[in-house]
Amino acid sequence: MENGGLSVVAVRKMKLTPKAIIVQKFGRNAQFTVDEVQDVVQNGCPGLAIPQKGPCLYRCSLQLPEFSVVSETFKKKKDAEQSAAEKALEKLGIDPSPNVPSAEEAWDKLIASVKHLFSNEFLSSQSPLRGHFIAALRRDGDLYGSVPASVIAVCDSKLANLCKLINPKVESSHLLVLTYIMRAATRLSEFVVTSEGQLSIWRKDPYPPEIKESSIIQQSESPDSICIEAIHIPSSLEMAVHPVTLNVSSTGYYLDVIARNLDQTDGNKILVSRTIGKASSEMRLYFAAPKSYLLDLSSDLPNVEEVVDFEGSLNPRASYLYGQDIYGDAILASIGYTRKSEGLFHEDITLQSYYRMLIHLTPSGVYKLSREAILTAELPMAFTTRTNWRGSFPREMLFMFCRQHWLSEPVFSTCSNSLKESSESSRFYEKSAALESAETGKECTSGGGTAASDNVRCEVKIFSKSRDPILECSPKEFYKKQNESIENASLKVLSWLNAYFKDPDIPLEKLNNLVGALDIQCYPQNFFKKFSSYRFIHNVQQRKMGEKLLQANSINTLNAIPEHGIYCLSIGGPDSGIYPSNGCLSFISYSVSLVIEGETMKELLESREEFEFEMGTGAVIPQVEVVTAQMSVGQSACFCKELPPQELILAAADDSARTFSLLSSRACCLEYHITLLRVTEPPEDRMEQALFSPPLSKQRVEYALQHIKESCATTLVDFGCGSGSLLDSLLDYPTALEKIVGVDISQKSLSRAAKIIHSKLSKKLDAAVPCTDVKSAVLFDGSITVFDSRLHGFDIGTCLEVIEHMEEDEASQFGNIVLSSFCPRILIVSTPNYEYNAILQKSSSTIQEDDPDEKTQLQSCKFRNHDHKFEWTRDQFNCWATELAARHNYSVEFSGVGGSGDREPGFASQIAVFRSRSPPEEDDLLKDGDSAHHYKVIWEWDGNGLSRSSL
Ligand code: SAH
Ligand code: MG
Repeated sequence: MENGGLSVVAVRKMKLTPKAIIVQKFGRNAQFTVDEVQDVVQNGCPGLAIPQKGPCLYRCSLQLPEFSVVSETFKKKKDAEQSAAEKALEKLGIDPSPNVPSAEEAWDKLIASVKHLFSNEFLSSQSPLRGHFIAALRRDGDLYGSVPASVIAVCDSKLANLCKLINPKVESSHLLVLTYIMRAATRLSEFVVTSEGQLSIWRKDPYPPEIKESSIIQQSESPDSICIEAIHIPSSLEMAVHPVTLNVSSTGYYLDVIARNLDQTDGNKILVSRTIGKASSEMRLYFAAPKSYLLDLSSDLPNVEEVVDFEGSLNPRASYLYGQDIYGDAILASIGYTRKSEGLFHEDITLQSYYRMLIHLTPSGVYKLSREAILTAELPMAFTTRTNWRGSFPREMLFMFCRQHWLSEPVFSTCSNSLKESSESSRFYEKSAALESAETGKECTSGGGTAASDNVRCEVKIFSKSRDPILECSPKEFYKKQNESIENASLKVLSWLNAYFKDPDIPLEKLNNLVGALDIQCYPQNFFKKFSSYRFIHNVQQRKMGEKLLQANSINTLNAIPEHGIYCLSIGGPDSGIYPSNGCLSFISYSVSLVIEGETMKELLESREEFEFEMGTGAVIPQVEVVTAQMSVGQSACFCKELPPQELILAAADDSARTFSLLSSRACCLEYHITLLRVTEPPEDRMEQALFSPPLSKQRVEYALQHIKESCATTLVDFGCGSGSLLDSLLDYPTALEKIVGVDISQKSLSRAAKIIHSKLSKKLDAAVPCTDVKSAVLFDGSITVFDSRLHGFDIGTCLEVIEHMEEDEASQFGNIVLSSFCPRILIVSTPNYEYNAILQKSSSTIQEDDPDEKTQLQSCKFRNHDHKFEWTRDQFNCWATELAARHNYSVEFSGVGGSGDREPGFASQIAVFRSRSPPEEDDLLKDGDSAHHYKVIWEWDGNGLSRSSL
């Protein structure tokens, strides 16, 4: 990109259409909407109520962040779009003329533009710089009429764009613009003056008296002095970032005020950053120009880059915030002259907003802020469905991340299944097409992909501004919709970046292990060149551990879950029996306070009346998720946890300065209060309940019950019993069952099952006529792919809707072990029938009252539940079961519940019933000696009302 880059840039720019310029500038923030317009035709029939069709015309409306425009009508959609873009460019003051100058022409233009700034006419222009020129005329003494070159460099984007054409490096090194402006001024020695050691320019001949006295200059004076809150960012990390007040008098120039706050005599010695934060903001960083920089402007143009290597000490926090190097102390202020406002525009910047900007630079920070839940929300680990996602979408966040860190826009390339299976070269074509289209800001649309099947895969690449590769992500997963594949890939990149930002000292290999299957390839050299400075900032945000405080208050470990960092946990309120499970949305109200050692008063930091999140995706901090999972609807919980990084607390705190002093002087911890307001059912249950009566789960239980009765079974084991829905229901019916056992790997589910079964059995014990003969009930914690001899030789085994929660090879393993080692006389296995999903999903979209976009999203959900690892068609299930039965001397019959076995596409839930062909005694003898106890008893009922629990 040294010299050759110049012509490339110029050539490419020459071809841009107005629309391409808009798209390049605004990306996804530019929305083109084309509408059909019907010309009303006069057909000589007044009063006719039926509209007569004229030729079809198109009109385009273009929505930009600041304003919108509407085109005239055109016969072609394309023309309407270009016309709207043209109008927008006009409004933005961007010259769409295709003759973008060469480097030399740009240089001449720059000189002419600088000259124009010092003309009489300029004082009545619309430029934001005009305010500075007028303010310069109010400066005292030697400073009278002198305009700091640094504001010229940053307040007029046209000048910066010309500099970019002269040297593309300007893009990543803001100070170069200033150098070019100064250089242009020295070429204009007939009109303007600059002097050694001064970063300012002034007119050689004074403005004529009529201008000096004209209303333009007099009017703009604001009558009173103003106080503006700004932030001082010391270059030394030892010193805290603190608020400062800028007192700008009515006759003074604000840059001089900022300069004095930075121990400089006047604003001519100050450098100014481009705006940071929102596009429309006037928020900038101000910092002193190093002395060597002031003196050395004489070197020739080719060496201009060297000028920026100066001696001052790097300001890590300011540099990080800005994304480019800043030296010495800095002030962050929102003040300046804008195109729109007549006088001086200004806003206060609080410490809180500084910290919010800081965390906004990390992926989880963006997410937290988008949810307005800094201490509670967390970047989710999974994008399950659009319907369940809350807050900014991954793709949107990735774009923002790249913009904020001065990276190129992310490049997405989607490819469809068919293309993947064909030659590698066609995939290559796809990729390069995506790269091309990235230049115009659009993403690549896959050529052959149809929306009908699951065949879109998406790769993302992140490049620096100079196109050095930084990261790429190539997920293996395919999705039905392109959109979904893009969101998922974006989230992977964000998750990887987030892991880095949480611990920037982490070695790369460890980082990759930690974040697991994110399919990321990182280019370490480029990556660390870009991001390693973040280490300094992160390290200085020392946590003040409140561990002692936490432990002192946690009297025993019963009310703490130390492995999750949860202390002093209490859950109160009656158990409603309705628990959130993975995949459902939990609605909570919560508050977070800072608890300070030795004080009874707590500082409220964050609270929400209603906040919803998807369970099981890590959309909130782990402590909130763990605790919520243990609560039933209506219950409240309170717990304490250790402090998160300081910047998060300060971003949440209203009075950051006070909170900061508390944090640095006392031991503190955070206290959370949560109330679980309600939960939505996960989609699977929602669909099943809405479509089947009785609900599918009930039908499965009834199906099992029928076999239990018919077989006169006295012992039953439920493999993967979950929360005990089957075991619980069985207790309501008269059967021959005496002993029931459940196994599951989820402790959470088992503890729920224990509660439910316990209360049912206790009630039965009290009841005059118990309808069940069950004397013994046991719950085991263990995997059903592992044998435990205590469960050998039961009369009946059930395994309802479990195998699809395992990987396919584990399901086969379970099949072999259950029939070869557990050897129940009868085994009932149910699993979803994949072919039935089309019906479920079609109907669910009519049940759902979400907007139409979300309906289609729901349809694109592959399986009924995102925890499912597979869902089989009838053929697949039949194959699996038939083979299995044959191998272990069982017979097998197929059936199901929901829908009908005779009609397509079969039952909603398919069931296989296996029956042992070997006489039971034989087996018993064989297995009795084998006393493998691999399961842990979680809860046990001995028939006399005594129960033992190890939970
Ligand atoms: N049978 C229950 C629960 C079905 S949900 C019902 O019909 O309501 C699936 C259950 O399988 C979950 O509780 C999950 O924890 C359990 N599971 C998944 N893999 C398992 C394994 N390897 N061993 C034991 N249980 C498992
Ligand atoms: Mg299931």
